[in-house]
Amino acid sequence: MKQYKTIVRRKSNRIYVGNVPIGDNAPISVQSMTNTNTEDILETVKQISDLEKVGVDIVRLSIPSLKAAESFKIIKKKVNVPLIADIHFDYRLALKSIKYGANCLRINPGNIGNKKRVSEIINAAKDKNIPIRIGVNSGSLEKDILNKYGSPTPEALVESAMKHVEYFDSLNFNAFKVSVKSSNVFLAVKAYQMLSKKITQPLHIGITEAGALRNGTVKSSIGIAYLLLQGIGDTIRVSLSANPIEEVKVGYDILKVLSIRSRGINFIACPTCSRQEFDVINTVNELENKLEDISTPIDISIIGCIVNGIGEAKMASLGLIGGCKKSTLYKDGIRQKNKIKNEEIITKMEMQIRKQAKKYKN
Ligand code: SF4
Repeated sequence: MKQYKTIVRRKSNRIYVGNVPIGDNAPISVQSMTNTNTEDILETVKQISDLEKVGVDIVRLSIPSLKAAESFKIIKKKVNVPLIADIHFDYRLALKSIKYGANCLRINPGNIGNKKRVSEIINAAKDKNIPIRIGVNSGSLEKDILNKYGSPTPEALVESAMKHVEYFDSLNFNAFKVSVKSSNVFLAVKAYQMLSKKITQPLHIGITEAGALRNGTVKSSIGIAYLLLQGIGDTIRVSLSANPIEEVKVGYDILKVLSIRSRGINFIACPTCSRQEFDVINTVNELENKLEDISTPIDISIIGCIVNGIGEAKMASLGLIGGCKKSTLYKDGIRQKNKIKNEEIITKMEMQIRKQAKKYKN
């Protein structure tokens, strides 16, 4: 896909979550979080493996209890993708998770208790050479900061984050990334813009508690894309009240649209009208489902008639243009002699797309 805008990334340090680099121009990684009960080892491992199939780079798990930490120990041994342990309130759970192989911790230092406990976590992370995310959230700001600002504002989020950043700095711990999330897109964007000027640590960006699939996708896309276009953001998490697989797919779609990082098929399809010569909507949906396993980035256009069909087909890796009873196929911009019978479009296109993906696989 042609890139019309060059994005200059904000300069940042690099950290590693397992083998995944974050910051300093590393590819922007796509994260998600399990929503199974972490104590249910089978279900959690299955969900992580489902997330791996759609390309997740890093998975976060909640560790709300000692039992969950014990399960985490076993889960960690059964999966390949780097895991982040998400800890609130109880610093002992953080220490256990580090001991049990977490590749990174996410903490909100404000709710961990006193500085001594936070410093114990930092020392343990240093010993194991793993990073930490300082995760500040507009829904759980410290009381004194909330009292000062009256409500969660961008300034309040940044002040909270900077308080923790300074403490981490004072302990000579540099392997951390920061997030300042809110469910309000404007608030989150402003907070990230402000924070990006104050520190050089990598930024984990996202719109928290964005909502269900449609609304959450729109909010996340607007917020994350707006920041990425300004070069802000080193790793992303789309937060949806939906199956976490959708978070990864939407995350990649955002990166794909911005030509930042591509994975899988980019379908170009028309909205359809009475000129369509075959059922475009059903065809695209079926092909999307059947071809989810393809990770090679390729553009495929599926257009209902010649009005826009030829132009799109010429720019795509494979392009189909609806015709009466038979449709025309373009491959790498060249019209193919053999047409496809309209009733065979799904089977034939699946075959053609798989061939093309194999050809372009690095
Ligand atoms: Fe209608 Fe053809 Fe346009 Fe598709 S490309 S919306 S079928 S006119």
